[in-house]
Parts: sequence; C-alpha cells; structure tokens
Amino acid sequence: MKPKAVIVWLLFSLGGIAGAANSNSYESGICIFALHNYKLAPHVERAIVFGVSRILDTYKDTFGFSFPDNFKMKVVIFGDEDDFLKYQKKQLGLVISETGYCSGRHLETVVLQRKNTKKTEDAKEMVAVVFHEANHLILMHCVPRCPMWANEGLSEYFEGLNVFGENRRVYLEESRSKWCKYWVKKGFPIELDKYLSLSYDDWMKFRNKDGNAAYTIGYSLVYFMMSRSDTEGILKELLWGFKRTGDDTDSIKIINEHYPGGLEKLERNWREWIPKARSYRPLRALREEAEKAKEDSPVEEPNEN
Ligand SMILES: [Zn+2]
Repeated sequence: MKPKAVIVWLLFSLGGIAGAANSNSYESGICIFALHNYKLAPHVERAIVFGVSRILDTYKDTFGFSFPDNFKMKVVIFGDEDDFLKYQKKQLGLVISETGYCSGRHLETVVLQRKNTKKTEDAKEMVAVVFHEANHLILMHCVPRCPMWANEGLSEYFEGLNVFGENRRVYLEESRSKWCKYWVKKGFPIELDKYLSLSYDDWMKFRNKDGNAAYTIGYSLVYFMMSRSDTEGILKELLWGFKRTGDDTDSIKIINEHYPGGLEKLERNWREWIPKARSYRPLRALREEAEKAKEDSPVEEPNEN
C-alpha cells in the first residue's frame, strides 16, 4: 500500500474505536493512558500510576535492573466490550482474553472495564489486571525470555497489590493459598524440581492440563521468595540468570549455587512457610516509602512547642 493509502486505511479502520469524541489520551506520571468510551476516575488513575511505579521500583531496588529515564507504561482502557475485542483482534490476530492482555510489540497493557456500578467504583479488578499485564511488560524489558513459572508467578504476585486507602499491601490470594495448603498435606500435582525445569512448551502443556497448578505453584514460590530478604536475593539471581540464558536456564543449578542447603532446603522452607504465610505483606518499596515519610515528618510538621 502507498503511504497515503495506509494512513487513509488506518483512519478508516480505527475510526470506530478512536473517534475523537469518545477517545482520550494523556500522560500521567509513569503512565500514558488511552481511554476509549471510558471515564477514568481520578482516584483510580492515581492508584494505577502509584502501583505501576511501585512495580518498577521493585525491579530497580530489589532485582537491580535499570530503565531509561523516559520509560512509560501505556495503559489502554476500553469501556465497550466490542471495541475491546476488535482492538485485541487487530493487535494480536485473535482474542485471548475477555478482561485484559498485554502486547509486547506495541508495549501496551490493554484492559476492559464495563460501566462502573457502586460496587465496582474503584474498578479494583480492572486495576489488578493492569498490574498483572504491566508486570509482564516490565519483566519483558529486563528479561526478554523468562521461564513461565516466574513470569506468571510475578504477574500474579503484583496482581495482588492493593493500592487503595491506607493499607497499601500485596495480598496473598486466598484460593491459591488454600490449594497450596492442601497440596502440602496431600502431595503436589508435580514435583518441584520437575516444575522448575519445564520448558516453555511443557509449561504450556501443563497449563492446559492443570491451569490452576501451573499458575498457583509459580505464584506461591514467588510470594514466598518475596517475603524474606535472603529468598528475594535468590529470585534476583534467577532473574539475572534468565536474562543471560533465557528460558533454557537451569533454575535448580542457580538455587543450588546461591541458597544455603540448595533446592532441597528451599523446598523444605517453602513448604513450612505455606501453612503459616501471612495474608498480606508490605511491598519493599512501600516499606521504604513509609520509612522515608517517618524520617521526613519531624521536618515537615510544625513544631508545637
Ligand atoms: Zn499473565
């Protein structure tokens, strides 16, 4: 097609979803929002910007990755299901999700949020999907070929980030936690060393057979590793290993090299942790922010004496 024809064709094909009257695009903090037939409440917008920034901070502070100063996360929100599905089909060639997905090629997190009701005014589920997908893109920036257990595990972990109100925390997903407690007693559907060694194709096959176990085991491992600084360090080593050698990386070798007692000990500690895991934890970056606020407060508060 001639360039002019391409432009006309693009305008024509995007016309239905990007009409000026119901589409709106603007920058806010680390995010670039594109809203289609959707009105984003200011407190939800602040929550998304805050959460995405905290995910990025975790990759910087906890995992030691760096990002360009102008790093932005594009968040596309649709209020209309048909438009969302049409856009998805155009970007991916097929429909893979009814709630949200990310496109590495377009560097976009794309979600659907139907009309808000009183119950959904915080759009919490949509915000959780944004965090899940934003993690995939941030991780992809650092580690282009990350094994699926860690990839989905980290996304599920950040999906549990609660950014509303005073108690900004990462919540432990209740049903996944229950499954792990059950498996500790009755046996896991797959041995840990086998799970950690699954290639991309084998993880997908396992997911098709037992989607719950495929996601839940990776999620639980990530949550466990993120709850202590020594295990956070192991996750960091793993991610840097994945950066170097992609999804062929030998996760077990890295754990054996860096965790005292190796995989056997890590598995034992993980299984002991599962029944007594706290139902939430503060994000490291949030912890640091809270400490900083405390340090700053004597200077900022007027002295009453
Ligand atoms: Zn995912």
